[in-house]
Amino acid sequence: MGLFDALKRGLSKTRDVFAGGLKKILFLGRRLDEDLLREIEDLLLRSDVGPKTTAALLDEVRASWKDGSVQKSEEIAPFLERRVAERLAAGGNEIARAQTPPTVILVCGVNGSGKTTSIGKLTKFLKSQGHTVVLGAADTFRAAAVEQLTIWSQRNGVEIVKQPQGSDPAAVAFDAVAAAKARKADYVVIDTAGRLHTQQNLMQELEKIRRVVKKAVPDAPHETLLVIDATNGQNAIRQAEQFHKAVGVTGIFVTKLDGTAKGGALIAVRDVIGVPVKFVGTGEQIDDIAVFDPKAFAAALFSAD
Ligand code: GDP
Repeated sequence: MGLFDALKRGLSKTRDVFAGGLKKILFLGRRLDEDLLREIEDLLLRSDVGPKTTAALLDEVRASWKDGSVQKSEEIAPFLERRVAERLAAGGNEIARAQTPPTVILVCGVNGSGKTTSIGKLTKFLKSQGHTVVLGAADTFRAAAVEQLTIWSQRNGVEIVKQPQGSDPAAVAFDAVAAAKARKADYVVIDTAGRLHTQQNLMQELEKIRRVVKKAVPDAPHETLLVIDATNGQNAIRQAEQFHKAVGVTGIFVTKLDGTAKGGALIAVRDVIGVPVKFVGTGEQIDDIAVFDPKAFAAALFSAD
């Protein structure tokens, strides 16, 4: 299955609301007027595109209407699709690559967001690109997290660096990076806690991991991926803001697009946080991962049938 079809399938619930709704609003020959723009605004909000991005998109449509570059209602959907793709493409969508391996990827996100599964998928993806990968189990707060990650390492046939529950997460992260260096691995992917006693503890710990990792590789982490669950809609955006403030997120992995009609949140999170989406998860299986492609995403989102 091609990327566009995978995204179309993954976005089916969002498309039902968004593309289906757009088709109803923009029937052939409909006059372009303020009523029509208000209906589009409602639809964007209902699809969880969020107030900021919705307002920005509407401003762009209005400006193009006023300057004559958009004149008919049927020009609106292609215009919006282009604008959505352009907004999502800003900043580039590729995964970082260190000049000297290993590339260190820190993965953060709240429990239940799909973090462990996404690391499993990402590992398979990196391997399929010919890279060697070492995993670091730095979510030492939950024994289950280490167990789950171990299973994903076995499925992928990659090495995992871990310590017993309760060990210092930063020490595990350091060891994982050191092991990757020693093995000349291309990537080291480090899982981090998704919950601690307090939110402040969590953010402090993530900061500590960042500091300690730099002792092994000074320009690390090269990528700090935040995993967010699309089914959380606007709540996911608030989480993303907190993580970004604490650790400086460089890329977003949006999971569970397949399970939600709130896929518009992906556009909102990119806009509000100002960090590119790099991967999407479209199912529970190891291959249900897509490298984020703004054009294909926008095309799928606007595709009603
Ligand atoms: P963690 O607590 O953040 O590490 O989350 P897990 O990786 O354990 O995932 C939580 C649940 O979400 C599991 O049931 C996963 O199978 C599921 N999950 C993860 N990613 C996706 C996705 O892209 N689509 C769907 N439908 N489920 C997902």
